[in-house]
Amino acid sequence: MSDLNPSCPLESSANPAFAPVVAASPAASGPTNRPVAPTEIPPDSRVGDLLAGLRENALAPADSGTAAQEAKFENHLAMVRLGMATSLYYALRTKHAPTAAHCLRVALACSAWAQRLGFNDEARDRIEVAALLHDLGKIGIPDRILRKPGKLSVDEQLAMGTCPQIACEILRGCTADTELLDIIRYADTWYDSRRQDESMRGDALPLGSRMLSIASAFDAMTTDQVYRPALSRERAISELIRGSGTQFDPELSLDFGVMLEQRPELLQGAVVNRWLQKLGQDVDRPMIGGDAAALQVNTQSTRKYVKRRDEFFLERLSDHMTEGMVFADGEGTVERWNHAMTRMTGIAADAIIGQRWKDETLRLRDTDGTRSGCPVTDCLGGGAQVSKKMMIERPGKDPLPVHIQVSPVMGSEPGLQGVVVILHDLSDKADLEQRLEKLNNKVTRDPLTGVANRAEFDRQLLELTESAKSGEATFSLVICDIDHFKQVNDVHGHPAGDDALVQFARLLESHSRDDDLVARYGGEEFLLLTANCDNATATRRAEAVRQALEVMPLKSIGNDCITASFGVTEFQSGDTSQTILARADRALLQAKSNGRNRVIQLGSGRATDASESVGKRSGWLGWLDGNRKAAKEEFVVLTTVPLELAVEKLRGFIADHHAEIIQVKADQLELRVNALCSSGGRRVADQQISLQVLLTLSDQMSGSRVRQTRVHAHIRPVRNRDRRRRELHACVSQVISSLNCYLMGQVQSAEEA
Ligand code: GH3
Ligand code: MG
Ligand code: MG
Repeated sequence: MSDLNPSCPLESSANPAFAPVVAASPAASGPTNRPVAPTEIPPDSRVGDLLAGLRENALAPADSGTAAQEAKFENHLAMVRLGMATSLYYALRTKHAPTAAHCLRVALACSAWAQRLGFNDEARDRIEVAALLHDLGKIGIPDRILRKPGKLSVDEQLAMGTCPQIACEILRGCTADTELLDIIRYADTWYDSRRQDESMRGDALPLGSRMLSIASAFDAMTTDQVYRPALSRERAISELIRGSGTQFDPELSLDFGVMLEQRPELLQGAVVNRWLQKLGQDVDRPMIGGDAAALQVNTQSTRKYVKRRDEFFLERLSDHMTEGMVFADGEGTVERWNHAMTRMTGIAADAIIGQRWKDETLRLRDTDGTRSGCPVTDCLGGGAQVSKKMMIERPGKDPLPVHIQVSPVMGSEPGLQGVVVILHDLSDKADLEQRLEKLNNKVTRDPLTGVANRAEFDRQLLELTESAKSGEATFSLVICDIDHFKQVNDVHGHPAGDDALVQFARLLESHSRDDDLVARYGGEEFLLLTANCDNATATRRAEAVRQALEVMPLKSIGNDCITASFGVTEFQSGDTSQTILARADRALLQAKSNGRNRVIQLGSGRATDASESVGKRSGWLGWLDGNRKAAKEEFVVLTTVPLELAVEKLRGFIADHHAEIIQVKADQLELRVNALCSSGGRRVADQQISLQVLLTLSDQMSGSRVRQTRVHAHIRPVRNRDRRRRELHACVSQVISSLNCYLMGQVQSAEEA
């Protein structure tokens, strides 16, 4: 707030406010300019008194009569004291004319203000004199400081800070009016007194000091200073408002603003002369007579003033926003365009304010580069609120990604009052998103083909397996391996091979659905993970890919075609991500060994919920439940798969479950299977139960003379004393269910069979 301190006002010659004083001074005026006797002066022309006093030479109340008369004389700031004030004012003018000019303008302002506030004559006299002499202390300040053109050093500022004290020292010898001295003493004290160690603060400060502080700061701001040119009245008032409550009395600063609002000619140098002559006649009549403490303001003016203050606040606010902000009226004429808008668009406020909004004003594009129209124009045309991401095209620069929000403004009157546009710069966010996406791609994508990499496939397979285990939708897995791919490389070269890999990945993608995942498992092996898809459907889809590939000419290999082999399987109860992958891989191996360029599926392809599928058919689980107390579990799987193939399928079961072959004896196979039970103990070891599985294989004719393979299974825990009944049953049911899936058969209880 150093701006507010009138440390160095303008040269007097440049300021007409000083002219009347010079003209009225004895040095400049002729003998015809006779002093006006106090009795001739209109009672409210207090500043006129001061001017008259400039022509007086009286120094002291030499023959003032009785003590009572003397006191009265003092109290009413009679001519003698005014005369003294005049001499002191002369002294100040001699020392530093610009300061004297400033003091006179401040005295004029305070005089008008005191009258407006309904001060009585004595109080008004007092503030006028105080204002006229408030900078008297500058007499004691060395010229090198007083006339220094640049910024004051700390020491120099401290010296300047002693001005009120010096003024009081000088004046104490001339007047006993302590109220007057107090006005000057506290004129520099902040309202909230943060700046000085003062016990006087807020409303405890003399009213005159609080007024003087405002009037003096206003005058200093509105005149040129060596350190900055004069501020506009509006700006100066705004500064007063900004300092209100801290440096200035808030109510008084508001009232001062209202006074200027009502009487804009007040305090303008050009009118000071006229003002001096007419002071008292054309200032406002006091709205409320009597006590100045009963400060009230005209509500209409206050409203008008507060409105201007709010407008100023809005302007500052909008210019400090990081978001771009535009207001266009109902006709589309731009009324507000803040700094952030200029920064984002390169369009200066001056160039756009007052112009009609056009489609191309902001050169907005959708994020995909297309033009779907200007949301601002749409909103002006009666459209609804828009909130979306867009790009602003900027000549010679990259397009700027923004979030634009356009809101219609409705007032109390019908129809659109205008639109407010808020632009949020998304460039930082877009950059971050881009980098995150790149990083994510690096971690999850295969760099050659762009499809998911093995890590991402493993993650999603695990996810799907877990959700399928918990009873959510099933899924299938297709593994594909390009046939004789080594030859492709050998004949056409590695880059051609690479291209073939890319083309194959594109083909897989074109055959995938939204929920599917295409991944490269490594080399020339790819995977298609199909959510909500059973074995039969997955097989059909793999077949479609196979057929498309064998007739797809590849440019890079001289328009030759390649083929691939496919292994397909579906999630089965008891599967882990490893078992389903191993099963699909076995299917693929089978496809390769069966001659390549074919699709082989493994697994029943039917409903895989053990309790549902088996229970419905034979009720074996019921049997299992009914035999809970039995130390061993027996059951029979009947399948139409021939014995040789059933043995192959058992090989898959053993491999996928990492089962241990204990012994093979005639038609019997003894296995040890570690079964995991997902419900149960807290530690993994608690959830694992070792089972002895004794399988007896035979083939037989069914009643309907269909050849069947019969697998009699006898399951018991390896450790006979394993008492985890609940877990045991869950593990046994998983093993049975899985075995049945591999054999593609039906389960019966041993008794039933
Ligand atoms: P099969 O029908 O039994 O699958 O025969 P194959 O030749 O396709 O299988 P093999 O495993 O013998 O050879 C795979 C070849 O795939 C060997 C390797 O050079 C090639 N390969 C693996 N990764 C890439 C790759 O990123 N780019 C290219 N161009 N070739 C690759
Ligand atoms: Mg291959
Ligand atoms: Mg291979």
